[in-house]
Amino acid sequence: MLSTMQDVPLLISRILTHGSTIHGSSQVITWTGEGDPQRRSFAEIGARAARLAHALRDDLGVRDDDRVATLMWNNAEHVEAYYAIPAMGAILHTLNLRLPPEQLVWIVNHAADRVVIANGSLLPLLAPLLPHLKSVEHVVVSGPGDRSLLEGAAVQVHEYEDLIADKPESYDWPELDERQAAAMCYTSGTTGDPKGVIYSHRSIYLHSMQVNMTQSMGLTDGDTSLVVVPQFHVNAWGLPHAMFMTGVNVLMPDRFLQPAPLAEMIESERPTHAAAVPTIWQGLLAELTAKPRDVSSLTQVTIGGSACPPALMKAFDALGMRVCHAWGMTETSPLGTIARPPAHAVGTDEEFGYRLTQGRFPAGVEARLTGPGGERLPWDGESAGELEVRGPWIAGAYYGGQGAEVLRPADKFSEDGWLKTGDVGTISADGFLTLTDRAKDVIKSGGEWISSVDLENALMAHPEVAEAAVVAVPDDKWGERPLATVVLKEGSGADFASLRAFLAEEGKIAKWQLPERWTIIESVPKTSVGKFDKKVLRRQYAAGELD
Ligand code: ADP
Repeated sequence: MLSTMQDVPLLISRILTHGSTIHGSSQVITWTGEGDPQRRSFAEIGARAARLAHALRDDLGVRDDDRVATLMWNNAEHVEAYYAIPAMGAILHTLNLRLPPEQLVWIVNHAADRVVIANGSLLPLLAPLLPHLKSVEHVVVSGPGDRSLLEGAAVQVHEYEDLIADKPESYDWPELDERQAAAMCYTSGTTGDPKGVIYSHRSIYLHSMQVNMTQSMGLTDGDTSLVVVPQFHVNAWGLPHAMFMTGVNVLMPDRFLQPAPLAEMIESERPTHAAAVPTIWQGLLAELTAKPRDVSSLTQVTIGGSACPPALMKAFDALGMRVCHAWGMTETSPLGTIARPPAHAVGTDEEFGYRLTQGRFPAGVEARLTGPGGERLPWDGESAGELEVRGPWIAGAYYGGQGAEVLRPADKFSEDGWLKTGDVGTISADGFLTLTDRAKDVIKSGGEWISSVDLENALMAHPEVAEAAVVAVPDDKWGERPLATVVLKEGSGADFASLRAFLAEEGKIAKWQLPERWTIIESVPKTSVGKFDKKVLRRQYAAGELD
């Protein structure tokens, strides 16, 4: 028997309508680098999104399922695109502006994007690619930048503001199937070709509700969230959607992502929450140490994307910014776990330990651990295996390309449809995930596993270490051994012997896990989304560049 409830599809247009009416006076604030930031109310964003949708449909001929790409920083116009494109029935494709040019070309051609909306400041990146982008017919330019770079390009060029200027401020948003494609995002392609994940209206809607739960980010309309995590990276962790549900003000850094402007915008706009990967927070911490600012408004900081070093968490706690650790991936929309300690642990010695885990699975995300032989492992906080997840905002396949079947590679999806995350860890009886490593980063030494993350965390707790990345390198006797690459703080005189002694101090790292190979480097290479790029380190080691 079916229920008697209304069957109202969960659509992005509904999030937009809700935000721009019920929370019409909340704001998207975009940092401009000089003078006052740009302030736009949710009501204005709603009207401008409607105007953009009219322009895309009537002037550019965008139709259902057409891919409209964005090559943009985090700003109000990008939020408008986030809503207009899926709400009208087309597909938003966010392009990662930090990818190497050849990967961007591959991705645009694979997605067959018809339109690219680009920030003017990114035209030096886009213009040389255009001759290789087979499907792109229109480029819409927004914000400052040299338009002459597009002269001679075989595409129609439009000014964002001119295009939307005389369009109606409302749009009769179509009643779509909630399972329809709304947005797509390619994984960074650390192995093989990038893979396209296609989010549905339904998955984004449900994920946004999850982000808003008190047990997740739990923000309300008195809050302002500084969204440092890029809008081109997993929908900025779902924040622009979630904030329209709750009326949280959104502070967007645009292209001003360096520690000094970030500190400045925190001091002047007084956000209460912020979200970014650890690398950003390391930079901000160094900035605040060198030049203290009033950052007292910022009481909640969400850190994810890679493991949050305990030393970083402690340093932020000391500044009054409480860190909340979360885990996710492009394939999980991304919120997969979030580390809010259970009530019984709050205020006890156990609390910090819970906060350091990757967090607890929310309702909607089912999890299981699979051992090396494919066996299910218990949730005992000790048995380590590959994490597999399932749920309404978890990918079940990758986009195969126009007209092609979706892809379900066996190393990413189990036969019964679960996502194999490639992350290795344990789950406690009360559902807290602790990741020990990525499957491909684990150091397999003489039949035992060494966690590169444990070694990195222990090293980064040394007062003179700025950053540390540990990779597996081949070893004749043990198969693999850890190589520690360390970035020292300015003026540090630490050497290998003292670092090794620090790691060996009681309880930190087991003796057999201590690295015997060390190298001091200037900085750890980073991926396009600011994570340690261990692939590059391994390559450098193989080429003899790290001795
Ligand atoms: P990429 O493969 O390009 O890094 P994602 O941005 O989707 O793509 O990254 C997802 C991966 O990032 C996860 O599979 C996991 O390995 C890592 N990750 C994300 N959050 C955390 C975290 N809190 N702790 C440890 N690792 C994390």
